[in-house]
Amino acid sequence: MIKSTLTTCPFCGVGCNFYLESEGNRVSGISPSRNHPVSRGRLCVKGWNSFEFVFHPDRLRKPLIKKNGKFKEASWQSAYALIVKNIRRVMAKYGPDSFAVVSSARCTNEENYLIQKFARACLATNSVDHCARTCHSPSVAGLMRSFGSGAATNSIEELPEAKCILIIGSNTPEAHPIIGWRIITAKDRGAKIILADPRSTILSNYSDLHLKLIPGTDICLLNGMMRVILKEGLEDKEFIRERTEGFDELEKTLEKYTPEYVEGITGVPKEILIEAARAYASLKPASIIYSLGITEHITGTDNVSSLANLAMLTGNVGKPASGVNPLRGQNNVQGACDMGALPNVFSGYQSVEDNQSRGKFEQAWKVKLSIKKGLTNSEMFQEPGRIKFFYIIGEDVVHSEPNSNHVVSCLKKAEFTVVHDLFFCKTAEYADVVLPASSFIEKEGTFTNADRRIQRIRKAIEPLPNTKSDGRIIMELAELLGYPMRYKNASSIMDEIAGLSPIFGGVSYERLEELGFLQWPCPDKKHPGTKIMHQERFACGKGRFFAIEHKPAQELPDGEFPFILSTGRILFHYNSATQTGRTTILSREFPENFVQINSQDAKRMAIKNKSKVSVSTRRGTLTVKAAVSDDIIPGVIWMPFHYANKLTNILTNDAFDPISKIGEYKVCAAKVEPAKT
Ligand code: SF4
Repeated sequence: MIKSTLTTCPFCGVGCNFYLESEGNRVSGISPSRNHPVSRGRLCVKGWNSFEFVFHPDRLRKPLIKKNGKFKEASWQSAYALIVKNIRRVMAKYGPDSFAVVSSARCTNEENYLIQKFARACLATNSVDHCARTCHSPSVAGLMRSFGSGAATNSIEELPEAKCILIIGSNTPEAHPIIGWRIITAKDRGAKIILADPRSTILSNYSDLHLKLIPGTDICLLNGMMRVILKEGLEDKEFIRERTEGFDELEKTLEKYTPEYVEGITGVPKEILIEAARAYASLKPASIIYSLGITEHITGTDNVSSLANLAMLTGNVGKPASGVNPLRGQNNVQGACDMGALPNVFSGYQSVEDNQSRGKFEQAWKVKLSIKKGLTNSEMFQEPGRIKFFYIIGEDVVHSEPNSNHVVSCLKKAEFTVVHDLFFCKTAEYADVVLPASSFIEKEGTFTNADRRIQRIRKAIEPLPNTKSDGRIIMELAELLGYPMRYKNASSIMDEIAGLSPIFGGVSYERLEELGFLQWPCPDKKHPGTKIMHQERFACGKGRFFAIEHKPAQELPDGEFPFILSTGRILFHYNSATQTGRTTILSREFPENFVQINSQDAKRMAIKNKSKVSVSTRRGTLTVKAAVSDDIIPGVIWMPFHYANKLTNILTNDAFDPISKIGEYKVCAAKVEPAKT
């Protein structure tokens, strides 16, 4: 008999819903949910192909233990015993500061809650973090300090109602395709589309204005737009007066960002800058959409606060189809943050340093908790030897962290590393124990998408033999460590989260079944959830302007490395491609890494399209094929980061934003040469 299971896509943060059709333990088909408010019966190519990888022969089916440098299959019992023995040994020898836990944006909310609880209660450390550090930690920090809440202000389905959309640092149709479709719908309904991107992408065809800025000059561009708005009296004076603070300081800072000055730094012609500022300020409501082109800089947090400045200056916050909206990368990166898989907060963004919050969790969890903030991912992999025990779940850090070779040195220096994954990833090579996890279709739980929408995932098939969900593994280990974490089911974990976290107070599986989803904040059982944030007041009372100066990237082109290297995602792949790379249709389109280079630059260096070139930075060299094109500005080259056999991140710079600690993936100095044959 065919069973139909409604669930949520495991790839990007759009959170499309679909039905999986299964017979026994095989999935036979997929059909999009027509009623879903975000996807409305559509899926992108990744969504349509989101289950083939589950049955790939590469799936890990047994725990692996490394002995004398070689992995051997082992029983769960012996793998657990070895982990517990080494946790106890490292704890006795070095103490809790020697542990680091990397949680996963691919795991459910309930699993992330368990993982951070395990780190804090069993390992006595707040050093738990996840890949938000490498994508949207500046959104959490920047929006939190500007608005009092670090999440998207509006809902995806409002986008077609916008009169103007500013898309900056986002190749939306490839990275978040269903939101790309919503932007095109807005365009069809008459919205003005402003694109700020050094590359021409699908959206260039739909944009009214394309601001081709030099990577790393976003603050200068945004300050320039704000200065034009003020000089032309297009600001929302009432909103600024009634709802915000810090405006005078911002106004003073903007004075020097004349269109000519901005053109000199960003490369954007002053006429286009002025037109973009006028359009954004006068066509209301106006929405800002952004992604990693904004966040992955040493100024990531300041970039985000500059977007918040622009939105507040024009009164574009707290209204339908307006606001500042980060497009979260992974399916549950929003949820992993929300659940406290971060080194400074428990679930619901409650500070570990706040006595009242910590006391509440101590009482509920019946354990003494550390008052000290933990290490971020970037800090865990900063100094080889600092961390003695890594516990890494569903995250291929060797692939995804900047300056991969340095990450490898940190893993090699650790005394013990545990990895959970579906596949034997790059990071697993450096583990002592590798545990076979189960996928999104083999478990119950929830994911939270980019617009704070908590949605169910449901079990379509039983876990493949000998695999276990990450949540089950964590609970079993906690039990062996003498700290039982027993829950009847995923729903009862959500009940604990709701009981301890005011912004999720009204969330329960009963309500999710009834309503389909809930957008937080949802403080009580009668609350319908929040589609638009900051309507009457900001979460922090008044919105805060920050006076921010342009600051150049940490590593700029010079005589030896004359190009700016930037990186990103392509439509057919997803992050480290552990899943999409094991899906026939997705992996056949772009099977290998490449570098996009401007045609004038290529001609000057006698580089032909599809010829082999060496791309080098101060950290390494890769040989890949050239994609010669006019879709990128001269002086800038671009590479996707998906390919494990040609790791782009051996090239990227691990200089990080001092506030959010994100690495500067989007700008580093590079050179390109025809490859020696
Ligand atoms: Fe999945 Fe994102 Fe594609 Fe929707 S847009 S189907 S969530 S990958």
